[in-house]
Amino acid sequence: MPLIAPASLFPTKPHIQIISALATITLIAATPGYATAQQTTDSIAPESSTGNSTPGSRAEVRAKDWMITAANPLAVKAGADILRNGGNAIDAMVTVQTMLGLVEPQSSGIGGGAFLLYYDARSKKLTTLDGRETAPMDATPTLFQDENGEPLDFYDAVVGGRSVGTPGTPALLKAAHENWGQLSWNSLFTPAIETATNGFEVSERLAGLISSDSEKLSRDPVAKSYFFDQDGVPLITGTLLKNPEYTATLRDLATNGTANFYNGTIAKDIVAKVRDAHWNPGVLSLQDMANYRVKERAPVCVDYREYDVCGMGPPSSGALTVGQILGLLEPYDLAALGPQSPDSWRLIGDASRLAFADRGRYMADSDFLPVPVAGLLDKSYLAERSKLLAGETALEDVSPGAPAFSHAMRLTDDEAIELPSTSHFSIVDIYGNAVSMTTTIENGFGSRLMVGGFMLNNEMTDFSFRTHSDGVPIANALAPGKRPRSSMAPTIAMKDGTPAIVTGSPGGSRIIGYVAQSLIAMIDWDKSPQEAIDMPHLVNRFGTYDIEEGTSAESLEPVLAALGFKTSLRDLNSGIHAIMITDDGLIGGADLRREGIVIGQ
Ligand code: GLU
Repeated sequence: MPLIAPASLFPTKPHIQIISALATITLIAATPGYATAQQTTDSIAPESSTGNSTPGSRAEVRAKDWMITAANPLAVKAGADILRNGGNAIDAMVTVQTMLGLVEPQSSGIGGGAFLLYYDARSKKLTTLDGRETAPMDATPTLFQDENGEPLDFYDAVVGGRSVGTPGTPALLKAAHENWGQLSWNSLFTPAIETATNGFEVSERLAGLISSDSEKLSRDPVAKSYFFDQDGVPLITGTLLKNPEYTATLRDLATNGTANFYNGTIAKDIVAKVRDAHWNPGVLSLQDMANYRVKERAPVCVDYREYDVCGMGPPSSGALTVGQILGLLEPYDLAALGPQSPDSWRLIGDASRLAFADRGRYMADSDFLPVPVAGLLDKSYLAERSKLLAGETALEDVSPGAPAFSHAMRLTDDEAIELPSTSHFSIVDIYGNAVSMTTTIENGFGSRLMVGGFMLNNEMTDFSFRTHSDGVPIANALAPGKRPRSSMAPTIAMKDGTPAIVTGSPGGSRIIGYVAQSLIAMIDWDKSPQEAIDMPHLVNRFGTYDIEEGTSAESLEPVLAALGFKTSLRDLNSGIHAIMITDDGLIGGADLRREGIVIGQ
């Protein structure tokens, strides 16, 4: 069958403006309404984009010494100040996260969890830290089932205390800072403390999300009094919002480290909030808080072209699935095909389906069951499965493969529901260190429970609500102390032993597609980070081939349908924030589908 490429599918010519760091900052700040005009109406599930992904509408940002890119301008500016004043990437990470929890409370915060990839220039070592939320010890595998053993409706599970896992982000910040921080811990909280005390303007995106989530967000009186005015009307864009409770929490963290958060007054407040949510109480305990531990995990890496693409292993499925997609595509010359070729999208779509089939079958918290990490990325396993892609049409049947297992265990396919919120940021400092961090409270506004000025996560709903299917166990079933499988894929692609691309995205399980596609765009198609981010998304998670609506990729829909894919046009709200490290300096990109910016010097 002839494959006809639509004439102007994607821009081919890089649009790179080389500008000095100072000019860069001025340019961004001077762009009218950059912080507000790009996001209009958002719906909460999924946290949707607003159709602003006009390719080339944002200048490329380049810098020499350091760079930071994240989803909110206030967080980026706070992080940039740290880097400008001699702080390193870990210092900036602490400040960015504390600020994001304030100005982007729907997406991440100290009531949630995160994965950190950190490249330390001095030791030349890449470390991954797992700050994932953890299931309370009193959580039973049937927590998200009704009395008949049927899965609860998603939001009946999410809203309230039931979905809250032990938060991991504060412990991750502390562990990372103790290992690699340079400025004093205390000082890193000042920007967020000042902003919480003096107030910040509610962004258009935040206002839209509060409004579209009104009913759920007003169930908790504390969240209601914060996100709504005295008449119960959702806060509107531009409202000056102060958060004295968050100020107090941050002051405590700044002074006492995480002692009170995990073992003292803050822990008590969190546990009381979860258990007292009388309409849907949870089982989190003081012991769960006290027992929380950040886990260092081995990075999961895959060879792709001349890069070693590294990311977060289990409990995330991110690096394994992105790695499988890239590994399956390695034998095919995507560079020669180019982004205009429908065959590129056939290959990417089917490689994704194959990888997602394995993901659903095998990936979960490897502390609780044997995950065949090495087997899933084994070169001969991937080469064999890659041969399935050699045809000319979409695969008729896709099923999980049989990777070499370290342990015999029979599993069936997963049923977790993941809806996107979350945030990703990337930082490179003047010392050559790099941070890639994806951070989440899971659904938009998490469990909708607010305590101490921050939102509590609903990460437990990333577990499969069912434990078995036809009597066969599901890898990602809930268990006490287990961490729910994630899709978050903070990534550092190494070249010749040092970081070359630092990237990641929110987006629920679509994260995997966003990250894989943007890596292919940068590595195979010679796109800059901003061009890669601007490209329309095409994401296949082993279901429909989702094509970003309102973009030039819509013209691919009939072509992909003719190849045999089930297609659907939909909003695809990534939040990719990427930095490329080249011999000529740093090149950054921020996702126009959210509010982010890049600052560098
Ligand atoms: N909770 C999801 C995960 O850990 C992330 C959700 C999102 O990106 O919005 O994979």
